Amino acid sequence: MTGLSFRDLALIDVERIKGVGDKRRVALRDVGIETVLDLVTTYPRRWIDRTNEARVGDLVVGEEALVLVTVREVASRSLKNRRKMVTATVGDGTGRLQIVFFNQAWRERQLREGLNIVLFGRPENYRGGLQMTNPVVDLVGDRTGRIVPIYPQSEKAQLNTWELAGWIENALDRCRERGILDPVPEDIRSGLGLMARDEAFRSIHLPETMKDKEAARRRLAFDELLRVQLVLVMRKRAMERDAIGIRHRLVGGLVEQFHANLPYSLTGAQQRAIDEIAGDLAAPHAMHRLLQGDVGAGKTVVAVSALLVAVQGGHQGALMAPTEVLAEQHHSGIRRLLDGIEVGDPSNLFGNRPLRVELLTNRVTGAERREVLAGLADGSVDLAIGTHALIQEGVRFRHLGVVVVDEQHRFGVEQRAMLRAKGEADNPDGTVPDVLVMTATPIPRTAAMTVYGDLDVSVLDEKPAGRTEIVTHWANGPLDEMAVWVDIREEVTAGRQAYVVCPLIDESEKLEVASAEQTFERLRLQELVGLRIGLLHGRLGSAEKETVMEQFRRREIDVLVATTVIEVGVDVPNATVMAILDADRFGIAQLHQLRGRVGRGAHRSRCWLVTAPQEDGNPRVEALVASTDGFELAEADLELRGEGTIMNTSQKGRSDLKLASLRRDKELVALARQAAFEIVDADPTLRSQPALVDELSLLFTSEDEAFLFKG
Ligand code: ADP
Ligand code: MG
Repeated sequence: MTGLSFRDLALIDVERIKGVGDKRRVALRDVGIETVLDLVTTYPRRWIDRTNEARVGDLVVGEEALVLVTVREVASRSLKNRRKMVTATVGDGTGRLQIVFFNQAWRERQLREGLNIVLFGRPENYRGGLQMTNPVVDLVGDRTGRIVPIYPQSEKAQLNTWELAGWIENALDRCRERGILDPVPEDIRSGLGLMARDEAFRSIHLPETMKDKEAARRRLAFDELLRVQLVLVMRKRAMERDAIGIRHRLVGGLVEQFHANLPYSLTGAQQRAIDEIAGDLAAPHAMHRLLQGDVGAGKTVVAVSALLVAVQGGHQGALMAPTEVLAEQHHSGIRRLLDGIEVGDPSNLFGNRPLRVELLTNRVTGAERREVLAGLADGSVDLAIGTHALIQEGVRFRHLGVVVVDEQHRFGVEQRAMLRAKGEADNPDGTVPDVLVMTATPIPRTAAMTVYGDLDVSVLDEKPAGRTEIVTHWANGPLDEMAVWVDIREEVTAGRQAYVVCPLIDESEKLEVASAEQTFERLRLQELVGLRIGLLHGRLGSAEKETVMEQFRRREIDVLVATTVIEVGVDVPNATVMAILDADRFGIAQLHQLRGRVGRGAHRSRCWLVTAPQEDGNPRVEALVASTDGFELAEADLELRGEGTIMNTSQKGRSDLKLASLRRDKELVALARQAAFEIVDADPTLRSQPALVDELSLLFTSEDEAFLFKG
């Protein structure tokens, strides 16, 4: 008899578990637990090691401790600023202590008299007695045992940890006879010293020791990571296998000419990335590479170098940007960069013609559009810069050789695939263009391995010389804010320019635009009266947008009030100050991205993060003030937001990481990736691993599955 697979467990409804009646079943469904698989993969949030438990009488002031106590009395009162303070007296047989919560009004409902709770905190002396302020509280019920698992509880669904623990124990007991199947090949398991899956499930829920619990967590976290890596590695290998790549020739001199024309020399990191890309381009398989580089790291030059390799071999190149503003900027910027560069032309007696770069977005219309489309189809356009308009119906290339996708986070995996497919469909010899994806969102390396696990990665980890550091300040409240406007006036007087970024309003572009218009009016009439102010937002027509941008570039506007449409790509070196209003509404990555619009020239730059007054600090704003290093900020971001958000960009639902942490389990990520390569390279279609395949098809969406079973 084989063990129970995840699919077997997913077929058993939770109502089969002892003690789960109709009512509890509804509550469980509310928190996403419908099957026994969902139940046993609901892992404890933490484990309390009762062997370390103290008695109240033994508590020492200033030393963190864990105590099991009973609630005696609860009270609450209101403080100024509409804050609430909840206090409770608790105790065990050896003494009493006071616990105090600020700003946690719900504690009054949670802490009922007679309830047994475990407290973790640092006792202080208060008016002659012991007190803990904002301790960690766990409701343990009457569970005994040396190590007590604490499950995520839901007040709304009225689910508590001891109920969950009971059901999970019951489920595991009933799995005991057949055991839980282990789909991971034995040699990989033993090579990594991983606990068997069946044992791991028992040890994570009912550990004998903390060490067992750790080993179980490692095993189950590994499984989560392995599944993700298997999908990614299979996708990578399938792409390499299925596609006929182009062997680009690295001779022709176009790239060298381009580099020689640059007013600066390449950074070491740029040169390295260009070499890595050249290696891919020359190889017979198609390139799928991610170029990661912080804002201002100089990705454009690397991208253009790759595109020129295509052109010098007689192919075309395309660069796709996420917005029209960005596409237009790239178009004019790249045209400038390539000014004077010529390409060989067999139809011309003199052998050369100027390199032709054209723009294709939805606002290129009429005769102009027809001309660009004709040029793409007959090959006379060498480089096409555009938005997703490039992959629309009716756009045909003669021979697309290299595709660059800028700012990946705005596109999805599907769009990347579409661009590639476009080349494949158009190219007369069925070859697939090489793809370079660029992102300015700094992602910690291990996370990149997961999110972009089907790509190779190059990193620009060195900024071009002569960059000025951006000094960031937090304008905390209206008094500080006044300094911001003074600063902007001074900079403008000194000949510089400024950005004012308006509050992000997630729910509605309409509201966001309205607020930008208000800010614009207010600044024009009050704080910045007399300065030349422009307004840029997403609801302006494309022509209007371009006019405003052009005026700003030509210094006809001193201060540009804008929504986040300026988030990416906008490059005006003379702009030296940025004020971001309601900065606490933005995420860390977005603030960093926005801030990168200044500090692009020779002048000292400043960024002001403006918020309503906040007494308690603001970790995101403070992180930005403390660091301008994108990778450091990415780590901080991961820390503050938790994991889920990262995975959401590539996987969702059941394939989420529940135990594994991209931050804490760096080593495990690398091991899982390596294991995935071993498994896939030994058997590319996983024919000999039916249990693994079954599990993947159960846990991944159909779209992920399509990749799995295509080969
Ligand atoms: P990214 O797209 O990575 O944010 P860009 O490619 O827009 O950065 O480059 C930012 C600025 O740096 C541009 O003004 C560009 O001309 C300049 N730049 C790029 N590479 C170098 C270099 N090696 N030395 C000096 N300046 C550079
Ligand atoms: Mg860029």
